[in-house]
Amino acid sequence: MSHLNKIHRVTIIGAGIIGLTTACTLLKEYSTNDNLQLTIISETFTPDTTADISAGLWEIYGIENIDEQTLRRAGYTYDIFLSEYFSTKAARAGIMKISAYILHGYNNQNSDEIDHTTLVKPAQAELVRHFRWLDKHEINIFDHLKPTSGFVMSTITVEVKKYLLELQRFLSQNNRVKIIKKKIHSFNELKNTADVIINCSGIASKYLADDETVRPARGQIIRVHAPWIKSVYVFDTDDGMGYIIPQADSVVLGGTFQLNDWNTNIDENDTQKILRTCIKCLPALEDIHKGKVQVGLRPYRDNGVRLEHEKTNDGIDIVHCYGHSGSGVTLSWGCAKDVVEIVKTLIPANSKQKNHEKNNISEHELLWRLVPNPEHILLTSKI
Ligand SMILES: Cc1cc2nc3c(=O)[nH]c(=O)nc-3n(C[C@H](O)[C@H](O)[C@H](O)COP(=O)(O)OP(=O)(O)OC[C@H]3O[C@@H](n4cnc5c(N)ncnc54)[C@H](O)[C@@H]3O)c2cc1C
Repeated sequence: MSHLNKIHRVTIIGAGIIGLTTACTLLKEYSTNDNLQLTIISETFTPDTTADISAGLWEIYGIENIDEQTLRRAGYTYDIFLSEYFSTKAARAGIMKISAYILHGYNNQNSDEIDHTTLVKPAQAELVRHFRWLDKHEINIFDHLKPTSGFVMSTITVEVKKYLLELQRFLSQNNRVKIIKKKIHSFNELKNTADVIINCSGIASKYLADDETVRPARGQIIRVHAPWIKSVYVFDTDDGMGYIIPQADSVVLGGTFQLNDWNTNIDENDTQKILRTCIKCLPALEDIHKGKVQVGLRPYRDNGVRLEHEKTNDGIDIVHCYGHSGSGVTLSWGCAKDVVEIVKTLIPANSKQKNHEKNNISEHELLWRLVPNPEHILLTSKI
């Protein structure tokens, strides 16, 4: 077989937000390379992945030492989500553009004493559209939380279970893609069936990649129906930390960030604490009597995301992409792009130009497309 006809077998382990965005980016970069065969092997699929539980908010969270690379990946993802919001994808993939109020206040400091010129802008301020500090009048609206400073930014929330479903539908309709439900116990199992393995196994990388620095950051949330809430509120004040995050179909009340806690059962104390802090922010939440309490384990990693190529002693090429902590949605498309750049150094990408590449199709349309759905969106809405 000549080099041009060689089949290149890539296997992605994991069908969470990281695995699926990587798969879509790979198909885009290899759109004209018919010799690529992509297999996605995963123990779980949506709606049972970590991001299905997540609040789906674009915000860098739970990562220490936010470096240039992290910002670049987050910025790239923000731009993709934003363009998707202004595309035909928004409704079916559950993407919302939304204002987020982020409030801080410690040690009963008086908000009158705050000099905005001395406040340190959060790293993501340069990436979002519309960032500004709240002035004193605006801070006063939140007097019941006693914040001393805060800002508002325009961001994105993704109803991830809708988003992943659409990505999965897109992938499953491509005849170069095989999707297998299975647990992998060692990379060696794939030695004879994959030329390149992409490891997107999240928290399981602790064992699969033998990485001791991966730890769970337990998160408990409550998903409620509260359609009057149209802004994000994240607060970290003397009264406690909490967040209220509307997605397309629900509102997420949170939350906890408990390092080294593997407990995936619901903790009633956490539930009560979340309700207390969120009701304090928006008292109308007191009338909510039903909610879905969920627990997930964020894949925290001491040194941040691991995104690199490893050649094992057995000669296996692995590209690792895990350890996104509380920012997997936020970094997804940016990390996927970087993973595929590494794969391109191992397997030649697009060989010939196809006509559509010359058209002016924007980046997000190339990454993945909506797959026709027999149920039209208007027919299923409850208007
Ligand atoms: C309560 C909560 C709120 C959050 N809110 C946000 C937010 O607002 N914004 C944000 O950006 N992030 C948020 N996150 C974090 C985000 O959910 C994670 O960073 C993200 O889901 C990680 O994605 P992943 O694909 O790496 O991991 P996962 O979703 O865990 O996916 C890993 C995949 O690998 C598969 N797998 C694992 N081991 C094996 C194996 N041995 N064999 C085969 N398959 C395997 C699993 O079955 C799974 O499909 C939140 C998380 C929690 C828990």
